[in-house]
Order: sequence, then structure tokens, then C-alpha cells
Amino acid sequence: MKTIISILTRFVPRRYLQRISHFILRIVAIFYIGNKKECPVCHHKFRKLLPYGRIVKRKNAICPSCLSLERHRLIWLFLERDTDFFSAELKVLHIAPEYCFIKRFKKLPNLDYTTGDLESPLADVKMDIREIPFGENTFDVVICNHTLEHVIEDLQSMQEFHRVLKPGGWGILNSPINEKRDVTYEDTSITDPAEREKHFGQRDHVREYGLDYTDRLTQAGFKVNTRDVIAELSDEETDRFALIHYDTQTAEDLIYFVNK
Ligand SMILES: [Zn+2]
Repeated sequence: MKTIISILTRFVPRRYLQRISHFILRIVAIFYIGNKKECPVCHHKFRKLLPYGRIVKRKNAICPSCLSLERHRLIWLFLERDTDFFSAELKVLHIAPEYCFIKRFKKLPNLDYTTGDLESPLADVKMDIREIPFGENTFDVVICNHTLEHVIEDLQSMQEFHRVLKPGGWGILNSPINEKRDVTYEDTSITDPAEREKHFGQRDHVREYGLDYTDRLTQAGFKVNTRDVIAELSDEETDRFALIHYDTQTAEDLIYFVNK
């Protein structure tokens, strides 16, 4: 089972994996009945969550019900506790929408909610984030997580997010970051998927961001305010919501909260 999961997660893009795995995991969830862990996204409780990880397997990573990962549960808690996302009238653009969020965000009566993606069949609008098909100052909120590392012209995409946001608008733009790197590592001559995996950690990544990630967002025009949600939670909450522990968290476990 572990080998099958490992092969699937390595070679099948997550957006497709989410569609096929949903039905299988519904059945798996029956074997995880309990109440030690609680997913803040779907509110289901389990004995434990499913393991996940391409190279290093993490215990209690995937919610068997909604498929949220630690980072999704963290973003949900941030939205709930630190923003007016669930109550204010907001026009929202959500790029590369995560499966665990889509249905729940769509149901929120306060949101005018649009999803966009280059190829995902789950999205409302097929779009290239290097050229977003909306006018400037259109959205109150832009959410785009774990996507910019796939795009060669990432600065152009960040500038597009900035352009379509209204003045005073905000966004969450999280990306994987290797905090051992001060400077982002990228090389556009590396195009072979196996080579990209070797250099950037995944077959479809075009770079590995370093600690200068925030500088890129700033360069695109944003005021960047990184938020450490894990530090604000109690040990009991971190454990119950199955989040990355503050002892092991790194720069990529922060929320990259941006403002225009
Ligand atoms: Zn869940």
C-alpha cells in the first residue's frame, strides 16, 4: 500500500490524484474511526490521519475525509482566526484550487468566488496566471498556493495577482521553500522531468525557492506580512489538528500574507 501511494504521489500530478483518491479514501476512513485528531477543514475526527510525503513520509498528514494536508489545515485556521474571509462580502480569485477547499468556499454566501487553473477540470475558468483574464482592481482576495514553483515567469504571475487585486486587497501566496537556501535556485536550461526532480525536488518544479521568496513578492509590488500561525497555537491544538510542530517547522510553514 505504501509503495503504491509513493509511486502515485511521485508521478501523478496532485490535481488528478485528488479526483481518483477521493472515493478510495472514503472507504479507508472507516478504518480510522476515533477522535484523537480533528480536521479543522471538514470537522471530521479520526484516530489518526493518513501518512504522506514524496521522500520522507510524515505521519498524520492527509485527512481521510477531505484530503487536507497540514498546510491546508493551517491556511484554514489562519483564514478563520486572522481574516474576515468567512463573514465579509469578498470577491475572491482562487488559483489552482485545492480539492479540500473548493466545495466549502463555494458554499460561503458572503463570497463571490471564482477558481482558475491552467488545466484542472475542477476550476471555473481555464487561465494562465502569466496573463490573468480579468481587469485590474477586480478582486478583494487572491489565493494561490504551491503553484508559482511550477511557473518559469513567476515574477510576472505575482505582478498579475497584484494587478487584479483591488487597492487594500489581500492574498495568500504560499510556495515550497528550502530555508537552507538564502537565494532561490533556478536554471531554465533544466527541462527534463528527472533532472528537475534532482535539482528542484519534483518533476514539474522549475525552481527551489529560498529565503528570498518574500523579496520576489515585494518586487511584484506587494507588502508582505509573513504570519506564524503555528507559534500562536497551543501544543494541544497543534497535535489535535495534526499540524507541523513548531520544533520542526520551517520557512515554508509560514503564511505568506500579502497586501496591495
Ligand atoms: Zn478533513
